[in-house]
Amino acid sequence: CGIIGYVGPRQSQSILLAGLARLEYRGYDSAGVAVIDADGGLGMRKRAGKLAVLRDDLVEHPLSDGTTGIGHTRWATHGGPTDSNAHPHLADDDKLAVIHNGIIENFSELKAELVSDGYTFLSQTDTEVAAVLIGREYRRTGDLVAAFRAVVSRLEGAYTLLAMHQDHPGLVVGARRNSPLVIGLGDGENFLGSDVAAFVEHTRHALAIGQDEIVAITPSGVEVTDFAGAPVEVEPFEVTWDA
Ligand code: GLU
Repeated sequence: CGIIGYVGPRQSQSILLAGLARLEYRGYDSAGVAVIDADGGLGMRKRAGKLAVLRDDLVEHPLSDGTTGIGHTRWATHGGPTDSNAHPHLADDDKLAVIHNGIIENFSELKAELVSDGYTFLSQTDTEVAAVLIGREYRRTGDLVAAFRAVVSRLEGAYTLLAMHQDHPGLVVGARRNSPLVIGLGDGENFLGSDVAAFVEHTRHALAIGQDEIVAITPSGVEVTDFAGAPVEVEPFEVTWDA
């Protein structure tokens, strides 16, 4: 299971697929990507199976490329390894894409709350519950970071969560609790990864994100706060091993 996020000037699809390939050693059963394209639309493709299945699908049915994107490999814990349970999961009328590694332990209570609120679900995953919750909060404020802040403290368990919204090209927001997430600092571009392997071919400058922190990356900057919104110091490190 692995995660990558990209914001910058380059077309993201091949960066995402290469990053996911470098994370393959972690094991997975499904893979998916989402990209915000030049027209501000959100495209998404996900498939059960090896990365090659996703790659072939993208060759046969190309997705508009774009310079903001997220990619995921899944190791199924809730719901079998099917196309619909693969990530990303969409919310807010398919304008918001969310990926997740880990387990949200209290997802069934949260799902019951959302179902009684009239929300419907396309997958059996714990992840889609987080996606729908973030979408619901986003609609209140139009602020993706604020939506994360409102939701993450309600999620119990272990998660690395990444999201992007088509109304905010150039922004990827992430959070981590009991699950890894690191920032890669590029020149006019930035990355998020479940480990440095996701982006080491592009940059060796990295920042460690602490436990229970939220990060927002844009092409020109990185902001890290705790779950309450207070800024936190992040620790820079250099990747020294040979990629
Ligand atoms: N619990 C999530 C799922 O089953 C994420 C699994 C993972 O870590 O890839 O979809």
